[in-house]
Amino acid sequence: MKIAFIGLGNMGAPMAANLAAAGHDIAGFDVAGASAPGVAPAPSAVEAVRGAEVVITMLPNGAILRAVAAEVIPAMSSGAVLLDCSTVDVQSAREVAEQAQAAGLGALDAPVSGGIGGAAAGTLTFMVGGGDAAFATARPLFEIMGQKAVHCGPSGNGQAAKICNNMILGVTMIATCEAFALADKLGLSRAAMFDVVSTSSGYSWSMNAYCPAPGVGPTSPADNGYKPGFAAELMLKDLGLAQQAAEAADADTPMGARALELYRTFVEDESGRGKDFSAMLPRFETRGR
Ligand code: NAD
Repeated sequence: MKIAFIGLGNMGAPMAANLAAAGHDIAGFDVAGASAPGVAPAPSAVEAVRGAEVVITMLPNGAILRAVAAEVIPAMSSGAVLLDCSTVDVQSAREVAEQAQAAGLGALDAPVSGGIGGAAAGTLTFMVGGGDAAFATARPLFEIMGQKAVHCGPSGNGQAAKICNNMILGVTMIATCEAFALADKLGLSRAAMFDVVSTSSGYSWSMNAYCPAPGVGPTSPADNGYKPGFAAELMLKDLGLAQQAAEAADADTPMGARALELYRTFVEDESGRGKDFSAMLPRFETRGR
């Protein structure tokens, strides 16, 4: 397939490289001049998308996605699919899809989970919003870049699934970290805490698969000095998108709102920037009531 890939950053570069390695013809563009193995560099986004059957974007946020979409949609071939894999607000995803559809294009929002490791290994999970025909066109590409693609409904629903999932993740990570800090102060060993909770009703992905306490549970960023992994500032971004969506939809999300406040304080006022989001545990450890 002839594919354009716009945004060759930490995630986009390995995703584009995997598509190229599978034999697809990829033209790439990144405003910072980034490139990826097997990807032919294009001089601009508009040049990259000419003649492409699928245009993939992997960009930092909704404002940049809107700007890039406005630029490339008029240059895309009729019937081509605009496949956005960035994590952006639901509103931007829906508006970009409407513009693409009005121009005779297919459109999908397909944010991912799995991080940089999953992008490199081709084991991402895609949460996809958009029409059936566009989903069918993109399916073979999802199979190369990932291990699973869930079609969640119409445009915007992929982003909705992503932020709901990550709101749960932010809340459960904080709950897991504060419980470990309380257990420390009550004289419970971390090994005992892990053994009980990971097999009791407090279990979660945060405890069982990504334990924030070093030395217990499976290897996680906690065992590597809290080097990300999934950086606290990316969790902050996703919690902000969740609150933006909750406000627009008039949904009551008190735990999500509190998790956003805590990650904002951690990233902006404490030393959380550049650390894994599970570094909430050493933060709680040093604090009293
Ligand atoms: P990144 O900052 O490494 O990459 C973004 C790239 O987009 C950069 O190389 C930047 O130069 C490029 N870019 C910015 N504006 C552009 C423009 N106008 N035209 C062309 N290129 C432009 O970010 P990333 O970690 O690759 O994340 C990309 C997206 O994936 C984000 O939306 C992020 O939230 C999401 N995401 C990231 C992770 C992760 O672990 N890094 C996990 C899941 C989802």
